[in-house]
Amino acid sequence: MNQGFDKETFKKSVIYNVKNLFRKTIDEASPEQVFQAVAYAVKDVIIDEWIATHKEYEKQDAKTVYYLSMEFLMGRALGNNIINICAQKEIKEVLDEMGFDLNVIEDQEPDAALGNGGLGRLAACFLDSLSTLGYPAYGCGIRYRYGMFKQKIENGYQVEVPDNWLKDGNPFEVRRSEYAMEVKFGGYVDTEWEGHNNHFVQKGYQSVMAVPYDLPIVGYGNNVVNTLRIWDAQPINTFSLEAFDKGDYQKAVEQENLAKNLVEVLYPNDNHYAGKELRLKQQYFFISASVQRAVKKYLEKHDDIRKLHEKVVFQLNDTHPTVAVAELMRILIDEQGLSWDEAWEVTTKTCAYTNHTIMAEALEKWPIELFSRLLPRIYQIVEEINRRFINEIQKRYPGDNEKIKKMAVVYDGQVKMAHMAIVGSFSVNGVARLHTEILKHQELKDFYEMMPEKFNNKTNGITQRRFLLHGNPLLADWVTDKIGNEWITNLPHIERLAVFADDPKCQQEFMNIKYQNKLRLAKYIKEHNGVEVDPRSIFDVQVKRLHEYKRQLMNILHVMYLYNQLKNDPNMDMVPRTFIFGAKAAAGYRIAKKTIKLINAVADVVNSDKSINGKIKVVFIEDYRVSNAEIIFAAADVSEQISTASKEASGTGNMKFMLNGALTLGTMDGANVEIVEEVGEEYAFIFGMSSDEVISHEKNRDYNPMTIFNEDQDIRRVLMQLINGLYSPEDSELFRDIYNSLLNTKNSDRADTYFILKDFRSYAEAHKRIDKAYRDEKWWAKAAMLNVAHSGKFTSDRTIEEYVKDIWKLEKVKVEL
Ligand SMILES: *Cc1c(COP(=O)(O)O)cnc(C)c1O
Repeated sequence: MNQGFDKETFKKSVIYNVKNLFRKTIDEASPEQVFQAVAYAVKDVIIDEWIATHKEYEKQDAKTVYYLSMEFLMGRALGNNIINICAQKEIKEVLDEMGFDLNVIEDQEPDAALGNGGLGRLAACFLDSLSTLGYPAYGCGIRYRYGMFKQKIENGYQVEVPDNWLKDGNPFEVRRSEYAMEVKFGGYVDTEWEGHNNHFVQKGYQSVMAVPYDLPIVGYGNNVVNTLRIWDAQPINTFSLEAFDKGDYQKAVEQENLAKNLVEVLYPNDNHYAGKELRLKQQYFFISASVQRAVKKYLEKHDDIRKLHEKVVFQLNDTHPTVAVAELMRILIDEQGLSWDEAWEVTTKTCAYTNHTIMAEALEKWPIELFSRLLPRIYQIVEEINRRFINEIQKRYPGDNEKIKKMAVVYDGQVKMAHMAIVGSFSVNGVARLHTEILKHQELKDFYEMMPEKFNNKTNGITQRRFLLHGNPLLADWVTDKIGNEWITNLPHIERLAVFADDPKCQQEFMNIKYQNKLRLAKYIKEHNGVEVDPRSIFDVQVKRLHEYKRQLMNILHVMYLYNQLKNDPNMDMVPRTFIFGAKAAAGYRIAKKTIKLINAVADVVNSDKSINGKIKVVFIEDYRVSNAEIIFAAADVSEQISTASKEASGTGNMKFMLNGALTLGTMDGANVEIVEEVGEEYAFIFGMSSDEVISHEKNRDYNPMTIFNEDQDIRRVLMQLINGLYSPEDSELFRDIYNSLLNTKNSDRADTYFILKDFRSYAEAHKRIDKAYRDEKWWAKAAMLNVAHSGKFTSDRTIEEYVKDIWKLEKVKVEL
């Protein structure tokens, strides 16, 4: 409960807002307008805490982490803010009295989808935890005009629709034009001799104004409000007369267009690098603005820039923000007058880097030509970083040119961002234990050998405030009823549920809540897909970005295999199963989009076949995003985490499912390894090759899927159905490219890169174990409850405490109102 919250004041505030914003009385207002009015009323409460928090930070002169990220996948703000100011009960009551349903009002808010998937959602969970734990923090990112596209399914195909999320304004944001920063692109570098050293000046450049918009990040019940600062781009001096006079008309137009295009759209690639010039511009734009602003703020209260690292730490969320290393060097040398060595010492004590993937296609490499043309001064600094690092390598490994080739920051005409991030940071972390071990001993072996002290692991986490307290209120209330509410800010406390796992009454209550959540999802599916699903069937769910390594294809091939079995024997004894998919594919990822079509084609055939008695249903949920994810996790029985071992760095969806009492069907990959370690292997369904086996096959190139195709007739039958028109009667060639990706008879090296056929039998056998286990209701209830009880490790609160202790060294701040 919120002590200072007054229902009457809040009600008046909502009524006033409706009048002031829309010239309407409350009974004339649409749900969308009521949403706006309620959001502004909540913001009113938050603002006082926001001001108080920053007063306290200044008073304590607290060290601050700047979490630099191209993506923040925030989802909706209203419901989460109401929960975190602890006024949910009161606001629900106020709205009831006025005749509105809080759920309906919350549903009016568009998701802030400023991210692709796991990496962006991790940043959002981290901000929630930082505020709840009372640590001073800024999230720094881009205010994309269009976030992640909305997905429509038309005739089974994905269609991308622009996400104009700001069209009705964003009630929670505050524009801070007083903190605008200039960011410069292009031109050339002039060297001026000044006293006894060179001074470098960028000339003939184009520039834009970076204007920050601040969003409040409310801590749970502690009055702490941190800031997510997202930058918009504005033209600098639109068509000034001066420019006309100088004949710089062309430049004025170009500068205006640069600003217009810069923050227009989020690139919809997940775990995939596309070397687009505009993307590098976006990176430098938000990094230059954020780093300049952080330095300026530091200098307002401190006079020795050599001690910047005592008050500021930059965390780089993947390599996307890596230009921060060179930008900080530029500011320290060119603007603050430090020597190279002094600047390097400060920079490498201030920057820290998080690695999110080992997949080759995700590694950022920028052609020198592009990089140096766009960022001429930054490129000079990168070259010098590279020159000095190569000297280090030669000192350490005299005559070893292989090391230089493998480790240089600039090599083969390209700037390698991961190498620059490692060299320029004091910390390099992976995101799950297995992933960090693979980094140290395989992918980044040479770097680990040379600088082992930098490497550390920080297993990812998720916030229980959004993914249990908000997303699954029935279960949240039940948990609180059983063990009290400490779990909300101390998730390991949820362990106390374990003693109820064998209690028949608790089992029944728990499974009844799962059933209610399945009804809620069934209703959503009926409304959005027009498909009836049976809430008594097993809800078997795979929701995540569509990617070959995540193997949605293996899942749907297994559905085809099961369907074949049922057609052979319609009386086959099996528990009815609803296979639920949700996934966006990058707009240019052809095989991924074709996989979506295949899933929908299989759904069409299977769902309308009366002869199988509804034993299998297949549903593809349109537009998977944070707001519907919350509903989906709450309703899942089985969590499909089936990536090729070694490919998924951590996964966080796996943790959200566990927290909501779904059992994991997964490979020993990413954080699945630690999930199984916590809950016990007997309460999960593990299958498939280990990461060592996968890596060994990749090294030895000794895997040929054709052998399996030839020897296994069930698999062969399924693959033949990809090209015989069973699922595409109008065009039997439709799924030929998927068939080829698995078998590629011309080039066996490129066949079944993700070992789907190799793992298929083991996967099918794990599904049979699930079918058997689900029949034992008591066992299943116990296993589901134990998953919830042992999910404590996977709170992002734990992850943040580890970052603070090992990397950021922050101090907790208390805020009294
Ligand atoms: C958690 C989450 C993800 C990440 O899912 P993984 O299964 O870890 O890839 C992606 N999208 C949304 C909307 C999420 O909430």
